[in-house]
This record gives sequence, C-alpha cells and structure tokens, in this order.
Amino acid sequence: MDKLYKIIYCDDLRIHMAVINDISERIYCPEEFDSSENRAESIVAASIAAVLASDLKEANSSITVMLRNVVKGVSYSVTAQQDGRICGTVGGYTKGVLKEGYILEVVRRSGLGKDYSSVVCGSSVDAVIDEYITGSMQRKALLKVYGNCAVLAEELPFTDIIAQGAEALKVLQLNPFPEALTEENGFRVVEVSDLNYGCTCTKRSVKKALVAALAGDDISQLEDIIEVSCKLCGKKYHIEKSEL
Ligand SMILES: [Zn+2]
Repeated sequence: MDKLYKIIYCDDLRIHMAVINDISERIYCPEEFDSSENRAESIVAASIAAVLASDLKEANSSITVMLRNVVKGVSYSVTAQQDGRICGTVGGYTKGVLKEGYILEVVRRSGLGKDYSSVVCGSSVDAVIDEYITGSMQRKALLKVYGNCAVLAEELPFTDIIAQGAEALKVLQLNPFPEALTEENGFRVVEVSDLNYGCTCTKRSVKKALVAALAGDDISQLEDIIEVSCKLCGKKYHIEKSEL
C-alpha cells in the first residue's frame, strides 16, 4: 500500500514522506511504457507530487509534477490534489533545445484557479530536484528522493533546525517504515494516510474543456469522432463532432 506520513522531528522540523510500493498502473500506462526505468521515474514524479501536495490547505488546490527524461523523450506527469488523490499519465514529448538530462516542471494550482509554475533542468533526477528546491521554494526546505520514497522536510516557523534536517533524512532513508521510529530518536509520526489513485474526469468535463479549447475555431475540418485525453490522467474519450 502506498502511504503518506507526516512526521515531526525534534519538535521543530516538519517532514512529509511518501512511500510508494505499488504505484497504480493508471499512472504509468503499462501497455506502452512498462519498463522498470519508466516505473521508477513514475514513482519519482508521483512521490514528489504527493509530498508537495500534502502541504496544501486550500480546497481544490493541487500540485502537478512533470518529470521529463530528455534522452528517452518520455514525460511523466502526476497531479496530486489537496484531498490526497493522485492521478497521472506518462507519454512522449517533443524535444526542445535540451538534448540530455532531465526537466522538472512543478505547477501549483490554487483553489481559485491561479497557477504558479517553475521549470528547472539538470543532468540527473537528483540534480533537478536540488535545483527546484534551492531555486523555486520560498522556504528553507529539503527534498530528497531515494528508492520509492520522497521526503520533504521544512522548518516550522521561527525555528532554525534545517541543518539537522539532513541527519533526519539519513535516518529515514535507512527506515522505510517510519512507524518503527520512536520519540527517543526524535521522530513523532503524527499522521499516516493511504495515497488514493483516481481522477474525477468525466466525458462531460473533457467535452467542456474541448469546447473551450476550440472556441472560435473552424471545426468543419475535424474528424467525425474526436479522441480527447484527460490532461490529468490520460484517459481517452471519444466525442462525436455533432455533440460539440
Ligand atoms: Zn482524468
């Protein structure tokens, strides 16, 4: 089972940890992309999205993490909602000027529909994560991904403990089951929840998005049946032109 932990370390450091053992096939589309590397990179995108979203408070807010493996031309896109649901899709993408390494794009959507997006690139998955955390986050935080876990550590306000965060992360790296950690080690697990997979898209919502995207366009050139994918989960819908 995939889980999200909220942990307090030494009373002053807030840690969010996502442990993904069993990523949903709906996220990495096995028929086309089933390889161990794709699976591992899907887990990276999903676990980062989960820990970043676990901090969201506003209803209907979400985090979308897009991790692109430039050499393979594969993009993993995972959206985690404030309520704990995760959905995603993997697909190809068109290469730009960058010829190798990784691109990480993180979009924060507020409940009011405002988006904040940041894009970083680097030679490895670890490099883009470090770049994101040092360049894009406004707070003192650490974000590490190892194996099937992502860990985000942030200072609580008015504290100065981030230097010890690296030590805490090392302990967590050796303990994939944080339940086993005790207060004597400085860790207090305050919440454990299951990560849920699923998208709330419907044919109706996808059709609405298509109508908006086509606004003002000449649709006479379109096929009679239009295939549209949900941009969050990749599910394909078929919409008849006459329905538009
Ligand atoms: Zn969907």
